[in-house]
Amino acid sequence: MTAPAIAAHGLRKSYGDKTVLDGIDLTVPEATIFCLLGPNGAGKTTAVKILSTLASPDAGSGPVHVGGHDLATQAQAARAVIGVTGQFSAVDGLITGRENMLLMADLHHLSKAEGRRVTSELLERFDLSEAADKPASTYSGGMKRRLDIAMTLVGSPRVIFLDEPTTGLDPRSRHTMWQIIRELVAGGTTVFLTTQYLEEADELADRIAVLHGGRIAAEGTAEELKRLVPGGHVRLRFTDPAAYQAAAASLADASHDAEALALHLPSDGSQRDLRAVLDRLDAAGIEADELTVHTPDLDDVFFALTGSAVPNQPGTSNQPIKPSLPEEAVR
Ligand code: ADP
Repeated sequence: MTAPAIAAHGLRKSYGDKTVLDGIDLTVPEATIFCLLGPNGAGKTTAVKILSTLASPDAGSGPVHVGGHDLATQAQAARAVIGVTGQFSAVDGLITGRENMLLMADLHHLSKAEGRRVTSELLERFDLSEAADKPASTYSGGMKRRLDIAMTLVGSPRVIFLDEPTTGLDPRSRHTMWQIIRELVAGGTTVFLTTQYLEEADELADRIAVLHGGRIAAEGTAEELKRLVPGGHVRLRFTDPAAYQAAAASLADASHDAEALALHLPSDGSQRDLRAVLDRLDAAGIEADELTVHTPDLDDVFFALTGSAVPNQPGTSNQPIKPSLPEEAVR
């Protein structure tokens, strides 16, 4: 067993009388993707700043180790293994992509020849060769993010912090970024990622922690988190209140949503199960006006844990039901 790439205990941070991090524990094994998920203002950037030595935790926090180095006593050594990219991008728009890269190589004390070699290699790898000699201010959002990551990689960091790497990107650039992140991890890098997008956490993360109210509300793989919420269901919706009442009376195992005139029947969403549900409805003479199949997703988990939907979530239209969580599953 190697030491985890990141280990933090009882991390605390307040600004004035506002508690942003209220004692959180994080452990990230090497060469994995860890995702800190939370809505805007949850404290994700604060966590990234502390873990990457850009901000100090409050007194009373437990120890933080990155790459095996204690941030309190070996910050310099930790910095040598850390790369950070985020909303505070290091890209200088006035100079070209290549010049940005060469500056970074200088900062890392690479020789001129080595700096040029690494620069060309990374520009090529991130599909920036053609634009390399244009001012970075002319780059698209996706190109700037790619340049930002390329600049971070000049120092060969073993642990990379990506603070909302795809916020504001179009779907195509987002998928390119996901591919880049997967390749980094396949090469042995550890990635600590923050996002507001459940879809992104689901796609990428080996483990996900949901940050809410300054604490980790739940942590696990996407599958484990999905198991926290009740299983899938078939939703039957009626337009006629009398039809709804009659159906509710004859389907004892359904949960009721009287306001929406909807009934939820437990279902795993399989063909066999759906056929059984339809047979039951036929036998009972129930004719719903709308029937939809719902499998639990991270949206439901997030809703269950935080009581709020995630803003700016691309491509989701399902209406989360309000599940009650098993106590032991939630910290
Ligand atoms: P997120 O990255 O999840 O959007 P942040 O970590 O940026 O959240 O912010 C969490 C909370 O801490 C916010 O309410 C923010 O206003 C506050 N905050 C962050 N940095 C500072 C600071 N330097 N001074 C005062 N308040 C801050």
